[in-house]
Amino acid sequence: MQIIYTDVLVIGGGLAGQRAAIGARRRGNEVIILSLVPAKRSHSAAAQGGMQASLGNCLGGAGDNEDLHFADTVRGSDWGADQEVVRMFAHTAPKAIRELAAWGVPWSRVQRGDHEISEDGKKKTITESDAAHGLITSRNFGGTAKWRACYVSDGTGHAMLYAMSNQAIAAGIPVHERTEAIALIHEGERCCGAIVRNLVSGELIAYMARATCIASGGFGRIYRVSTNAVINEGMGAAIALETGLATLGNMEAVQFHPTGIFPAGILVTEGCRGDGGLLLDGSGHRFMPDYEPEKRELASRDVVSRRMEEHITAGHGAQSRFGEHLWLDIRLLGADHINGQLREVKEICQYFLGIDPAHELIPVRPAQHYSMGGVRTDARGQSPQLKGLFAVGEAACWDMHGFNRLGGNSVAETVVAGMIVGDTIADFCASAEGQLQLSTSLAGDFMRRESDKLKAIAQNGGGESAVELTRQMQETMTSNVGIFRHGEKLERAVSALQDLQQRAAHVGLRNANRGPNPELVAAYRLPRMLKLALCVAQGALLRTESRGAHFRDDYPQRNDLQWMKRTLASWPGDHDQLPTFDYEPLDILGMELPPGWRGYGARDYIDHPDTAIREQQIKHLLAAAGELDRHQRQNLLMPFMHLLPPLFQGRNQRLENSE
Ligand SMILES: Cc1cc2nc3c(=O)[nH]c(=O)nc-3n(C[C@H](O)[C@H](O)[C@H](O)COP(=O)(O)OP(=O)(O)OC[C@H]3O[C@@H](n4cnc5c(N)ncnc54)[C@H](O)[C@@H]3O)c2cc1C
Repeated sequence: MQIIYTDVLVIGGGLAGQRAAIGARRRGNEVIILSLVPAKRSHSAAAQGGMQASLGNCLGGAGDNEDLHFADTVRGSDWGADQEVVRMFAHTAPKAIRELAAWGVPWSRVQRGDHEISEDGKKKTITESDAAHGLITSRNFGGTAKWRACYVSDGTGHAMLYAMSNQAIAAGIPVHERTEAIALIHEGERCCGAIVRNLVSGELIAYMARATCIASGGFGRIYRVSTNAVINEGMGAAIALETGLATLGNMEAVQFHPTGIFPAGILVTEGCRGDGGLLLDGSGHRFMPDYEPEKRELASRDVVSRRMEEHITAGHGAQSRFGEHLWLDIRLLGADHINGQLREVKEICQYFLGIDPAHELIPVRPAQHYSMGGVRTDARGQSPQLKGLFAVGEAACWDMHGFNRLGGNSVAETVVAGMIVGDTIADFCASAEGQLQLSTSLAGDFMRRESDKLKAIAQNGGGESAVELTRQMQETMTSNVGIFRHGEKLERAVSALQDLQQRAAHVGLRNANRGPNPELVAAYRLPRMLKLALCVAQGALLRTESRGAHFRDDYPQRNDLQWMKRTLASWPGDHDQLPTFDYEPLDILGMELPPGWRGYGARDYIDHPDTAIREQQIKHLLAAAGELDRHQRQNLLMPFMHLLPPLFQGRNQRLENSE
């Protein structure tokens, strides 16, 4: 039995995993990263549009600060987020951008002088100041109060991930690529590492670590139409669930992006709309202002996606041989802008649609895009149930996104949370709790269990095909657990998924090779993906309200009275057929921003009596305190600085700092 020992094991080599690894390594720990693919090919590389941080450099960002970023994020989340976590995030995001700039990310910069931009379908000239010339610029993205998304044309994630990966290499962190964590090793409530399968040789190896961090990205591939890469199957979240102890938070909170190219689902960035692109219907009419006069095409993603589907249902879609869709029009931005700032979009349109978006319309329809849910952690990134287990990035439910993640907040989260969680892990390793008596017999037990499971699959001889059952799961999720949900459809989905779970026990392999064997991989991932799908579908069935991206036709109101809480799913028994659900209350009396209208979408919600009480409290607190600057005011309402590592507590300087 091969055992590899390390201080810290990071499962996932995307932006989040690598940044957390760098943080832990800087404090003297030995760190190993696992990745299904070479780290630079992690899904983070696909992020196009931008990274949100309140720098306030360019004209559209002038006056921006942490308070505005905080408020946009909380409203975007439809009050499902942990507001302390949102504060930690908004405070650290500018530092993350600057660190990446120092590491060589070629952020697009402010150019002094006049520039023609497109806004609300019209051309307009803006003038950038001399003082801002050369500083990191931002684009309009995510329906925010200010232009806040920093970008590298539309190859933002690519540039970020390469810089991050080079830093990890420089820090001497090995990446064991083409390896897959298939189970977590734990002794009671203490996580001690993972059983890992080498995807090339088929060997199993035990990695034993004092701290284990899941950074495995989203689980979009449980849907048929998704912008996610084929590696985004949620295996990190699934192996946490299979411990029977760690919980998954808000798995029903799944984001659909308005502009997946139709029918493939490949994303074209929200930057298209941020830079002035418009959505048109089958007859060429710009329909978003009819539904959302305030934010139009730039309302939050859950709202725009719903409006698009409503408009198609009302009979205004464009017809095609693959079904109905709408159009994205970026022609008005002009070829120069598209070739410079939206080059990847242009290439996607050329290669996958055979069109030139400078002259032709792009067919689009909403597609699954982002997993708000994931491994539930506390504000410093540790699983509350399993000591020594941490989670970061899209795989986690740190919970700064609640029920809808704002465009550009995700890559920002990966880096910011990576900075914070890397430090938390280092603290943990330095503490008495972080010490571990490593038991080889424990590793042996887990190794045998996984090896027996794989043998059972190889020798099963059943007549079912894993690929076909996976396809049926994806179809079930896309048809029944999508943008518009309803009790009956959700019940149908849960029962279909349970049926697939039964059939998954009878998967037979045509090829039982131990080495590189995609059929075997599909067979062992399928039951795990089905568990995640059941957490999503059953969680959605039980949540009888509409909040953010979770919209129930049969319960169209947001219900703060009964549903101001986070869903926690666990899977205590190996042979359970459904997850077990528990709920974690969100305390309105502790919120800096009590629930209200988001500023777009329906104004229709059921109030909680604590909201009025909290609003009064805030009024009294502020009146009693007298004159305060914005930092003192914030600290009075909801202190959060104590949660941040001291390294990141300093204030952010800005061009127009009046502090
Ligand atoms: C097309 C697209 C465009 C986007 N554009 C933007 C944008 O402009 N702005 C923004 O803020 N967000 C954007 N997002 C979202 C954002 O890119 C992701 O949320 C973020 O990059 C996720 O990073 P991560 O580090 O959490 O995971 P990933 O980058 O997905 O990395 C996951 C890693 O885990 C590894 N892994 C998975 N399972 C295992 C396992 N069992 N064992 C070992 N390794 C494993 C993988 O190999 C990979 O290295 C976009 C998303 C998509 C789909």
